[in-house]
Amino acid sequence: MKKILFLNNSSDDVKIIISQLKKNGINFRELVTDNRQEYIEALNLFKPDLIISDYFLNEINALEALELKKVKSPDASFIVVTESINEETAVEIMKAGADDYIIKENLGRISISVSEIFNEKTRLKKKVETEKAVEELNRDRILLRKLIDNLPDLINIKDSEGKYILNNFAHMKFIGVDDPETVKGKTPYDFFPEEEASKYINDDRQVLDTGFPIINKEESALQKDTGRRHWYLTSKIPITDDKGNLTYLLTVSHDITQIKKAQEIIAQEKMLLRTLIDNIPDIIFIKDREGRRIMSNRAEIEYTGFKSELELLGKTDIDLFPDETGRRGYNDDMEVINKGVRIINREEDLRDSNGKKIWVITTKVPLYSNEGYITGLVGISRDITKLKETTIELEKAKQKAEESNRFKTAFLSNITHEIRTPMNSIVGFTSLLDDKSLDDETRNSYISVIKQSSTQLLNIVNDIIEISNLEAGIIKLSLQDVNINKMLENLFVQFRVKADQQKLEFVLKPGFKDTELIVNTDPTKFLQVMTNLLSNAFKYTTKGKIEFGYIVEKEQLKFFVSDTGPGILPEHREKIFDRFFRIEHSSNQKREGTGLGLAISKGYVELLGGRIWCESVHGKGSTFFFTIPHHQIFAGKEKKHYDKLDTTACKTILIAEDDYNNYLFINILLTKNGFNTIHAINGKEAVEIIKSGVKVDLIIMDIKMPEMDGYEATQIIKKLNPDLPIISLTAYALPEDREKSLDAGCVDYLTKPVSLESLINIVKKYI
Ligand code: ADP
Repeated sequence: MKKILFLNNSSDDVKIIISQLKKNGINFRELVTDNRQEYIEALNLFKPDLIISDYFLNEINALEALELKKVKSPDASFIVVTESINEETAVEIMKAGADDYIIKENLGRISISVSEIFNEKTRLKKKVETEKAVEELNRDRILLRKLIDNLPDLINIKDSEGKYILNNFAHMKFIGVDDPETVKGKTPYDFFPEEEASKYINDDRQVLDTGFPIINKEESALQKDTGRRHWYLTSKIPITDDKGNLTYLLTVSHDITQIKKAQEIIAQEKMLLRTLIDNIPDIIFIKDREGRRIMSNRAEIEYTGFKSELELLGKTDIDLFPDETGRRGYNDDMEVINKGVRIINREEDLRDSNGKKIWVITTKVPLYSNEGYITGLVGISRDITKLKETTIELEKAKQKAEESNRFKTAFLSNITHEIRTPMNSIVGFTSLLDDKSLDDETRNSYISVIKQSSTQLLNIVNDIIEISNLEAGIIKLSLQDVNINKMLENLFVQFRVKADQQKLEFVLKPGFKDTELIVNTDPTKFLQVMTNLLSNAFKYTTKGKIEFGYIVEKEQLKFFVSDTGPGILPEHREKIFDRFFRIEHSSNQKREGTGLGLAISKGYVELLGGRIWCESVHGKGSTFFFTIPHHQIFAGKEKKHYDKLDTTACKTILIAEDDYNNYLFINILLTKNGFNTIHAINGKEAVEIIKSGVKVDLIIMDIKMPEMDGYEATQIIKKLNPDLPIISLTAYALPEDREKSLDAGCVDYLTKPVSLESLINIVKKYI
């Protein structure tokens, strides 16, 4: 509603004017004032559209009021009402900027004047507004066009038939045209190969038919200007008119080729990194702030026994390893995450999926965000189990070598003593024999001492050679069927003398009493082991009882020798089988020994396929056990293997030996057992005897002889009479000599000095 400000001091005049205006249908709000002050305030606050002012007022006239209006309310119109007016006043008022003047006598005109002023004002206002709107519209149109033309995205609008009506620069470039007019009314078929165009048109149709937009569809498109394919994210938006009809289709395509390439490079690099991480044998993992896995490589999946990474993700060390290793790993993680500590190459043990303990060195470092906050950790663990085991083994081997060295030193001083003792008696008593005045009895007693010392010395040398051979792995087995009971009975008879002397109870307990037990084994080695164990039992036991025998078990034969001697401490029970090991205890000091007996026994038992060990109660006694595998065992009543030789047949044995004393010794042993003998003083003579056709049943052939040695003689005789058994006689118990003689054609060998037992056994075997 319009606002009229009256500046008048005659309320009657004002009333007349108001009623005039109202009568003529002019709607307004009014404010009446008659002084300057109120007038100024009204200009400021009431903001009139029109001022109707009297010409003369008390303190202000119309001209002054007009000037004030120009300053305070320039848009308001101004009408002057006056009594009578001369032309000059009227001109002055109009010049000053009033819109009209009314003479009071002619007050009826005021309605027409006010209406005109108000109408003109409205028209003018509308005009200005329209002009402004058009200007803004134009401006917006230009700006929008500028905007879409400058956008790098491809933008086009098509009509409801799919024909272009607007294309921005980028889109024109894309379809290969410069002039926008040449595009209007065309379709993609005009610019693209059919296949490509129908792809776009199908999408257009879909949106136009359904009214649903396509948003950010990823597609590749041929770039007309470059001929290259680019990747776009395309959106197609349907545009409807006021009535809801689909009239236009807006298409915007955003080029994502660079992003796509970058994504491909990132994906490629990610794949390479992953391949690398998965092919590294070390365990690699990444964890979040709570210590939960967010990445696990293949090594970790395998070590933990899971099937896929997915199963591991989200799991902490506590979830994975329920024992203390899990808690330890988790605590380390928290140290790294909460305190930013770096753990470098920490050695720790874990359990793998099979529960096997493994050793790893682990490095864990915090992971930081761009803002510098710790977001988790990355860790790597390397399996060093083999290295660790090797180090432990090496340490053990080093200790063993040092120990072995100590034993050797102890052994050397010991062996010197062991050799010196019998040597001294041999040298001493041999020189005593020179005394011609000796009577037979004294001489014999000297000889007996010399014999005993020689045997002792020989045993020591044999032991040393034997252990060296065992260690060199050159001992071979000579398997035969052995009557175990018989052998143990012989040992019993042999050791009973000692038992009587030492006043010890001595018992043989065979597993089979009535049946004979025949085992296919090496009798010499077997006998040696039993003899060693029995000798030790007698050596270390001073009172009580010694028992020996065997137990038949399902898989094996278990032999035992038990005593009531000093016993052996647990820490020594394995070491006593090491070479040169002797226990240094007071009662042991008086016992002779080299510390080789059990080492040799162990070597032999293992060669025979068994195991040897010791059980003992310290202070009460010891039991030594050894086994022989079961497949070598059979039991039977047959006795033929060990029947006594029928000596009445009187066989002839040729002894080829250059040393007369040796010949004599062997000759006595053989003739005492009922054999005939012939002596050849070297290999040549032996060959001649055979050539001469003398009947010989067996030859004992010394190897070292003048003119023709034993090897050569054996080879020649073997050609003359291949069936004739020849037994070599070697000075040293060296395997090479044995091998060589066997190679030359000998059936067996004897080692000097020859014992009655071994000579007769071997002769009986081949005759
Ligand atoms: P040696 O008897 O020559 O010292 P061995 O190898 O036969 O060597 O024995 C090694 C060590 O084992 C002996 O020094 C002795 O201390 C201990 N030992 C062997 N047999 C027995 C036993 N029956 N009772 C107590 N100690 C024994």
